[in-house]
Amino acid sequence: MKIAFIGLGNMGAGMAANLVKAGHEVRAFDLSPDALEAAQGNGCATFTSAKEACEGAEAVVSMLPNGAIVKGVYEAEVIGVAPAGAVFLDCSTIDVATAREVILAAEAGGYEMVDAPVSGGIAAAASGTLTFMVGGTGSAFGRAQPILEAMGKAVIHAGDAGNGQAAKICNNMLLAIHMAGTCEAFAMAEKLGLDAQTFYDISSVSSGQNWSMTSYCPVPGVGPQSPSDNDYAGGFATALMLKDLRLAMEAAGTSDAKTPMGEQAAKLYEDFAGAGNEGLDFSAIIKTL
Ligand code: NAD
Repeated sequence: MKIAFIGLGNMGAGMAANLVKAGHEVRAFDLSPDALEAAQGNGCATFTSAKEACEGAEAVVSMLPNGAIVKGVYEAEVIGVAPAGAVFLDCSTIDVATAREVILAAEAGGYEMVDAPVSGGIAAAASGTLTFMVGGTGSAFGRAQPILEAMGKAVIHAGDAGNGQAAKICNNMLLAIHMAGTCEAFAMAEKLGLDAQTFYDISSVSSGQNWSMTSYCPVPGVGPQSPSDNDYAGGFATALMLKDLRLAMEAAGTSDAKTPMGEQAAKLYEDFAGAGNEGLDFSAIIKTL
């Protein structure tokens, strides 16, 4: 299949390479010449604009930084440029409202489109083991599914347009709340004279058990290998968690959802990132406790 791929950064580079490996003809574009050169090395054909990459494409995949860029690129260089009947897959993490707006514009132009944000980081993008949460019609999902399967281990239909983004931000808001709570519990256990490993042994088989504890423990040397064992390098950067929490708070505001715990987590991560920790894994927030 001829697939245009727009946005070949940390995530998009690996995803585009996996489409090539699956036998697709990938027509790549990024504003960065370095990203384009790397994509060429991975077997993609490269172009000097998104417009050129979309010409003749049967599908368009995008992996871009934010909603304003996604909207700008689709409105100016994809809709009306890609051949009629092409299917569009935006895998970026963006706000629900913009995702729905872009999908409506694509549909008005005679295309099918899904929002398909991912769970999993750069390593999962490179190894083709991402999880995709997909919003869109059943027909659009059916066309997007085999393309997404070439880049991931799980592809889940979350419902109508924008629901992929809704699933992503609700999940990550919960993750931030769990992580902050897990850090608090370990820090208090220590103040009370309880050894971290002993607390882990008890809580990991008790009702406080959660993923942030048993798969991604914020305390070095406790639980399976995680970024805390590597001085909080790698993993899921605080800046990206903060981005997702801001999107969650925006969506809570527009949907009139009450999210007192989410607000608190957003404030904690805002302060932590503001203190110069944007590049550290999000579990490093334990350092503030
Ligand atoms: P990145 O900044 O590494 O990559 C974005 C790429 O888009 C860059 O190469 C940039 O040059 C390109 N770009 C920007 N504007 C463009 C335009 N107008 N036309 C063409 N290319 C353009 O970001 P990333 O880490 O790859 O993240 C991409 C998306 O995936 C974001 O929405 C992010 O929130 C989401 N995400 C990232 C991770 C992660 O661990 N990095 C995990 C899950 C989701």
